[in-house]
Amino acid sequence: KKPQQQKKKIEGAALIGIDVAKEDDLGEWYQQVVTKGQMISYYDVSGCYILEPSSYAIWMTIREWFTKKISTLKVREAYFPLFISTDNLEREKEHIEGFAAEVAWVTKGGKSDLEKPIAVRPTSETAMYPYFARKIQSHRDLPLKLNQWNNVVRWEFKNPMPFIRTREFLWQEGHTAHLTEEEASKEVSQILDWYSDVYQELLAVPVVKGVKTENEKFPGAKRTETIEGFIPATGRGIQAATSHALGQHFSKMFDITVEDPHAKEAGKASDKIYVWQNSWGLTTRSIGVLILTHGDNRGLVIPPRVAEKQVVLIPVGITVKTSPEARKELYDKVEKMAEDLTSVGVRVEVDLREGYSPGWKFNDWEMKGVPLRIEFGPKDAEKGQVTTSRRDIEDKNEARGEIKVDDLKTAVPELLEKIQSDMFNKADKAYRDHRVQVTNWDDFVPKLNGKNVLLVPHCQGGKCEDEVKAKSARTSIGDGAAEDAKAPSMGAKSLCIPHEQPEGIKAGQTKCINPDCSAPAKSWVLFGRSY
Ligand code: AMP
Repeated sequence: KKPQQQKKKIEGAALIGIDVAKEDDLGEWYQQVVTKGQMISYYDVSGCYILEPSSYAIWMTIREWFTKKISTLKVREAYFPLFISTDNLEREKEHIEGFAAEVAWVTKGGKSDLEKPIAVRPTSETAMYPYFARKIQSHRDLPLKLNQWNNVVRWEFKNPMPFIRTREFLWQEGHTAHLTEEEASKEVSQILDWYSDVYQELLAVPVVKGVKTENEKFPGAKRTETIEGFIPATGRGIQAATSHALGQHFSKMFDITVEDPHAKEAGKASDKIYVWQNSWGLTTRSIGVLILTHGDNRGLVIPPRVAEKQVVLIPVGITVKTSPEARKELYDKVEKMAEDLTSVGVRVEVDLREGYSPGWKFNDWEMKGVPLRIEFGPKDAEKGQVTTSRRDIEDKNEARGEIKVDDLKTAVPELLEKIQSDMFNKADKAYRDHRVQVTNWDDFVPKLNGKNVLLVPHCQGGKCEDEVKAKSARTSIGDGAAEDAKAPSMGAKSLCIPHEQPEGIKAGQTKCINPDCSAPAKSWVLFGRSY
């Protein structure tokens, strides 16, 4: 941690406020924002955090939205146990190899050792698929589509970070089985589109859709589709959510088969089909990405569509000279406005706390990220209007506006939608500006150190990816430190092969970005340092 005096003092920061600038020390800033903004509280098991009501409310909004979407695919909700037997966990080889290092085990019950340790689910493929094998007896039992909202445990050893990387996290995991690869594949894309909508439409966070390279795909999957986010403050990518085409890997290991309804017509000898499976997950990491993307030096900035409170109404201009009658009249008007706004679906808080100045209240709600503040005082009352202040605009004068009291019911919902789209557009521009095309290896590390993610021609080879990662790590470039003292030491890994491919790759001719690789580039691949 840097000494306090080196940090930029934040203008107008009250004692309760955030006292370190986001651009100076992101780690410290994030810690303060998530705790003072009352998103999380600390807990005495490392890597685990208490989700407070205001972050849980965001999670519930995501949950309700996504549940509606998947119910249109006839996905049904279910619940499987937290524990997985060793035998089942270890049935798919690649899968267990991928997760072995992070599995938490129960080895004791009370004082006695268990005969066989029991795993705490890191994900539920192996918990659910023995059930799939029993449930799916005929092609008429397909498709089988289940989802569960639950917690999983991954005993990560990298530094934990609230929401972003935690040892226990909340998510939904969808697991489905299909008769044909085509049908399964359609679902993988549909889910990815909805994940993208959760980020872009609800959280106002831009993402890039793509597919993972062989190196980075989910252990045991045939293909992993992903949405990749970006944290402008560090220039690092972040895996935002993933939708896996599992192919038949698990159905072969768990023996999930049906008779082929078309075997006879096709003249096939065997009529056994291993089902085609998918799994897909979106976690509470999404809330962390929202906070890192939109938060500023006054605290949280929550997009209206997911904010627990969208508007805070604060009476102002009350002094010792204000008569009790005048004060009551003002309060009554504020309460009436709250009623009106609630009636059109706006989530409102009225702050009538005694003993706090309006200025203190402003700071408090700004820190909590409430998208819109409405002030109402005697002067506003005379003009039949309210004064508004948008949380997403940093300049306090630009943030201000006025609305006629009579227009509140239409103007406030409109303004909230405007805030929502402005927040997305600002974040989208930041991501676009920092997603740069690089075709020459000499530009790779400098551009990476410039807090960018890089779109490069690449052969898609796993070994080559490892080389790029090693060569772009700071230890191997020596003077990288001079370029950016805070550049992380990690190298760049492949984030995804974006679905949207720019032009310029000529099959067999375009070279892979890695000068030591002799293979031609297959496509543009997004590389970056990442969380
Ligand atoms: P996976 O099942 O490995 O594909 O993970 C699903 C999603 O979980 C990933 O796309 C990440 O966005 C997220 N995720 C992975 N690890 C963590 C973690 N430790 N904490 C929170 N979210 C995570």
